[in-house]
Amino acid sequence: MVSSVSKTSQIPGFYKLSPLERLRLVKEFAGLSEEEASLIGSMKGLSLELADRMIENVIGGITIPLGVAANFLINGRDYLIPMAIEEPSVVAAASNAAKICRVKGGFTTSATPPIMIGQIQLTKVVDPHWAKMVILESKDEIIALANAQDPVLVKLGGGAKDLDVKVLHTMAGPMVITELHVDCRDAMGANAVNTMCEAVAPLIERKTRGKVYLRIITNLASKRLARAKTVADKAALGGSSVVDDILSAYAFAVADPYRCATHNKGIMNGVIAVALATGQDTRALEAGAHAYAARSGHYSPLTTWEKNEEGDLVGTIEIPMAVGLIGGATATHPVAKVCLKILGVKSAVELAQIMAAVGLAQNLAALRALSQEGIQKGHMKLHARNIAIAAGAEGSLVDIVAQKMIAEKRIRFDRAKEILEELKSAVKQT
Ligand code: NAD
Repeated sequence: MVSSVSKTSQIPGFYKLSPLERLRLVKEFAGLSEEEASLIGSMKGLSLELADRMIENVIGGITIPLGVAANFLINGRDYLIPMAIEEPSVVAAASNAAKICRVKGGFTTSATPPIMIGQIQLTKVVDPHWAKMVILESKDEIIALANAQDPVLVKLGGGAKDLDVKVLHTMAGPMVITELHVDCRDAMGANAVNTMCEAVAPLIERKTRGKVYLRIITNLASKRLARAKTVADKAALGGSSVVDDILSAYAFAVADPYRCATHNKGIMNGVIAVALATGQDTRALEAGAHAYAARSGHYSPLTTWEKNEEGDLVGTIEIPMAVGLIGGATATHPVAKVCLKILGVKSAVELAQIMAAVGLAQNLAALRALSQEGIQKGHMKLHARNIAIAAGAEGSLVDIVAQKMIAEKRIRFDRAKEILEELKSAVKQT
């Protein structure tokens, strides 16, 4: 049993504690106030009034579980990782992989500056390459006008920094696409970039005598990348043969988009769980990740796996990571704010790197399980309680039904219903 925690994310027996005991340890680790801890523990993190201001036609809220992955050592610092997800075994898998990676020093990460790209679609130009030159010649003027829209961002060292122009020959005729490169600092940046794109469009139209239609950020955030690498010790993984099995699983994903989609989905299990916990735009992250994976024309893994000279498994990830600490729901959702405090991140770039490390860990866990006993053994055990609930079990019956299915190795909805009926009729007879 754990009674107190120092600043380590390695907490033996964490998974065996009750939710309240876990929350107490996390509170201590992250220095949460009573109010912040109870916001999480009460499962009433978002008021109806606030929800009604966030989106349209609000009728209430839906709560999903918030777990914490342990064991993460990133750039020599311990992190407890808040993960909001409805799928069993993701949090456990991340914690297990992070534990394996700790043996050889955890994860090291890096990132590009937080540059997002905004696109301005110019049409109805008869001489598109001429128009391209005109726009490039007006670069300083366009960038200055863009930056005039967001003095706050500029003051923080961000803002529009550069632009590219490309000519596309489309089924609707030639188009000249201006791409504005905007350093978004600690914002995800979609609103900031879209505002800039809309502001510079009339200037581009005037200069080129063309017609601008779309003025919008691209979610293929190829200039806002987060990277992480790790060495997974072969003994901690289970031996040299496990390393080879994982490499074989990785080769399958490299060769086949059908396998690769699920390989990358496993990565996003971790990335999106942290994103949801911290109030990020999860759709933007998904779109960016998959588009980046397909940028060569062949849909590829976001991770790489190799064997080093010692025979250990070496993993890397490079993934677009448009995340923010301000703007969007990050700064409005009370639980998201507490989750950011648990992570203790000081910048969006730091958050992006942590999320990349979680994605890499999640991928390692999935490849290890898939190439060994398969994921169903562990997954279904954890899923048994969900099946019991879906079959109608309540209270203590949930665990009784789940345990019986696990013991019988028949973790199925129809069996859960049968067990439930058996238990109910046994109660009636007594
Ligand atoms: P935002 O406009 O709420 O906040 C960004 C602004 O905050 C900046 O423009 C800046 O003026 C200010 N700011 C203050 N401190 C800052 C700091 N330290 N770093 C950076 N900026 C700082 O939000 P946003 O990040 O521009 O936009 C994110 C929202 O846009 C999300 O809710 C997302 O869902 C939504 N959105 C996404 C898309 C898309 O992804 N395609 C499209 C439209 C809108």
